[in-house]
Amino acid sequence: MFYNIKHTAGTPVPVTQFSRPGTQALNAVNTQIILPEDPSVPRKGAMGIVAATANYVAAGALAVFILYLSLLATSVPPTDAERQKIDAAIDVLEAKGFEQEAFLLRHLTVFRKSDNWLNGVAESENAYAATNFPFGIMTIYPDFYEKATDDTERAMVLLHEARHIEGADERQAYTYVWQNRAKLGWTRLTHGTTPTYVTIELQTRENAPELFRCSSKLWNDCTERMRASR
Ligand SMILES: [Zn+2]
Repeated sequence: MFYNIKHTAGTPVPVTQFSRPGTQALNAVNTQIILPEDPSVPRKGAMGIVAATANYVAAGALAVFILYLSLLATSVPPTDAERQKIDAAIDVLEAKGFEQEAFLLRHLTVFRKSDNWLNGVAESENAYAATNFPFGIMTIYPDFYEKATDDTERAMVLLHEARHIEGADERQAYTYVWQNRAKLGWTRLTHGTTPTYVTIELQTRENAPELFRCSSKLWNDCTERMRASR
């Protein structure tokens, strides 16, 4: 039987003899015997658990990556003209103080113009856009370009989707946009008559009804700065 010999210090030991019961090893100082690994014997202890966990993590990461690639492969990117409108909306967000969302959208989001297979089996959340969490894939629908009237309204849509990129649910995303619409410059005063404003207000009332229970405020809207006249 062969052994691996490892010298831990000093000069190499050319000849190694192994001890028998009741005898002393000769020339064995500074010498360790390392048995060869038998792959059929599972490694025990903490290192074995770490190795097994690492294997599971690696397999999981590979599966997620393959799923991510499949989402990209089954959808197409926006045209250059569409991409310019997306970028203009991100610029609005950054200019209005939503730097974190602008960074997410600019650097960690992949935009698509058609549904991937996952969007096909899941119900679309609205007519403007949809986000696949945690993949950072955002599908932008025609209403984003055609129904939204300007870059500010498109910025509002992206602000909502950016919350989904961060893992927020519908209630949280609608609440965040509604509470920050004055900061964005998308208010009843500036956009109150647009089809998009009317649509998003209705959807916000459905998804976050607790925002509309303040009887002392106009339209029962707790975020409204004007008070209702009595
Ligand atoms: Zn949403």
